[in-house]
Amino acid sequence: MAVQEEETTAADQPVLDVRDLKMHFPLRAGLLKRVANFVYAVDGVSFKIMPGETLGLVGESGCGKSTVGRVLLKLYEPTAGEVRFHGRNIFAVDEAELNRIRQRIQIIFQDPFASLNPRMRVKELVGEAYRVHTGDKDWEKNVEQVLKKVGLQPEHMQRYPHEFSGGQRQRIGIARALAMSPQLIIADEAVSALDVSIQAQVINLLDSLKEEFGFSFLFISHDLSVVEHIADRVAVMYLGKIVEMASDRNLYQTPLHPYTDALIAAVPRAEAGRRARRKTILRGDVPSPVNPPSGCRFHTRCPKAMDHCRVEEPTMIEARPDHWVACHLHGPMPHD
Ligand code: SF4
Repeated sequence: MAVQEEETTAADQPVLDVRDLKMHFPLRAGLLKRVANFVYAVDGVSFKIMPGETLGLVGESGCGKSTVGRVLLKLYEPTAGEVRFHGRNIFAVDEAELNRIRQRIQIIFQDPFASLNPRMRVKELVGEAYRVHTGDKDWEKNVEQVLKKVGLQPEHMQRYPHEFSGGQRQRIGIARALAMSPQLIIADEAVSALDVSIQAQVINLLDSLKEEFGFSFLFISHDLSVVEHIADRVAVMYLGKIVEMASDRNLYQTPLHPYTDALIAAVPRAEAGRRARRKTILRGDVPSPVNPPSGCRFHTRCPKAMDHCRVEEPTMIEARPDHWVACHLHGPMPHD
């Protein structure tokens, strides 16, 4: 008989525990549409997010970070691995339980216009899911309150998405997520489509909402400077794998992986007094996730690549307290 898993909600237990997650998309070819190959979009990703914590997931376009976000909501059926939300494996629960979990995990998308139904007014866009799931007759009051929290006015309830600017539309998307009282919010490139000045406003808003409501946060972005402002810890992804994970401070001040070093070097620094660092220049494009390079996947672009990097895949090790890296420059040499 299957043992019913207990939900874990203690403050020292992770809200989200992702274990060796893999998402390989089949590529079909020929008349019979046989599987000819796979896109190794996510290839063995593990991380945890604690209550109230913000994890930044960063990497270049095509590294698999957005696919991770979608698998966490079970929008894709993963190839392998587990995603535990408060201890419950979301791939092993029944449909009713999955729906309950989905209410508590909300997502904010990059393009607020595409994710908002243009024929619905703001009050339905923000309040519909809440009304259906709670049956609350006073649901419009809840909409009014969350709109105020994101800096919109009660009169905005009667308007349609096209009547708002990009920044305001993203605020509607945030209000919609907030209306469900989530325990985890996934923001997928949530500010990438906005002007830089608006980006700062929305990031500050997300930060203050997180403080007030205490939800956990997975902040997915290609932009390290954006993540630096909001994350407690940062995980860097390259070609479907996490290559480095550390606290925000450690990662930005003492990156251990040459890829992280190169990403940070590419971020323009206006502030004076920052410790001068040697610069690693990132050359070439990200290789195809259909045929990822052997050994360390970064070896084709790494200025520090050694012979064995081409054949031996580095494993993730804790090189410093709570600072994890997968690179042969750190830890035992192969065959030691
Ligand atoms: Fe560079 Fe080798 Fe480290 Fe990969 S394992 S990042 S190729 S030094």
